[in-house]
Amino acid sequence: MYACKEIPWMPTYKYMVKPASTLKKLRDLSERQPNVKSALEESLKPTLSLLKHRFSKLKLHGRPAVVHDSVTLEEIMNISNVLDLFKDAKDSSSVIDTKEKNAPKKLKAFIERHCRAWQYSFQIKKCDAADCWYCILNPKRLPEDKPLHWLPDPTKGPDGTFQPLEDLLGIEAIDRDFLIGGKVRSFIMCCLCGKRRVVYCKERLSRQQVTDIEVVQDNLLYTCGSMLFPYGHRNHETVVVKDGLECAAEMETTYSAG
Ligand SMILES: [Zn+2]
Ligand SMILES: [Zn+2]
Repeated sequence: MYACKEIPWMPTYKYMVKPASTLKKLRDLSERQPNVKSALEESLKPTLSLLKHRFSKLKLHGRPAVVHDSVTLEEIMNISNVLDLFKDAKDSSSVIDTKEKNAPKKLKAFIERHCRAWQYSFQIKKCDAADCWYCILNPKRLPEDKPLHWLPDPTKGPDGTFQPLEDLLGIEAIDRDFLIGGKVRSFIMCCLCGKRRVVYCKERLSRQQVTDIEVVQDNLLYTCGSMLFPYGHRNHETVVVKDGLECAAEMETTYSAG
């Protein structure tokens, strides 16, 4: 957004920041030199307040945009301290590491089991597994016999209007026993990461189903973790991809379409 040489530096710091030709070098320098860091923060203030002012003029459906300040380092560290719960004592990886592969194993396992990142939402949900160290210590607060559902995507009914949440909650619990190698019928490519994801169906795909999959593909409707067909679609329960996939996840090895 802002090339480093365009930052209005105070004259005292100009000579110090001259060799820092990229933002990365500038950041590294400011980590080593606290004075440079505070000068950098100070010099960015007018630009940030201008941006904040500009964005606050934006409106969506008649309502003004709300502009928040970015989180402070202190706030990030506070969250990071809470997340240390997901670290084993001998695990040296950082929970706020930006590279997912470096995240602590315990945190990755927690995310896999309790989080769902779809195109439109990010959800965290407690599980019912008897071997889950987190949910045993912090069980869900709903009565035992009441299941905790993932929130469904907004879904239109036959009349074209959005269906009420109560009608959609929990209906994703469909039989998924056929998500096995022998039932691989096709694949779909994620329109974000480009990975091929396996499409399963109990029966061989009908011509109509093949066309339906092509429509999803051509309209760039599929991303890792989303449903292949929305609730109410004729193929919603019969032609499926595994849920819980993320773009970062490796491709499945079962490719031989049977
Ligand atoms: Zn759990
Ligand atoms: Zn993807």
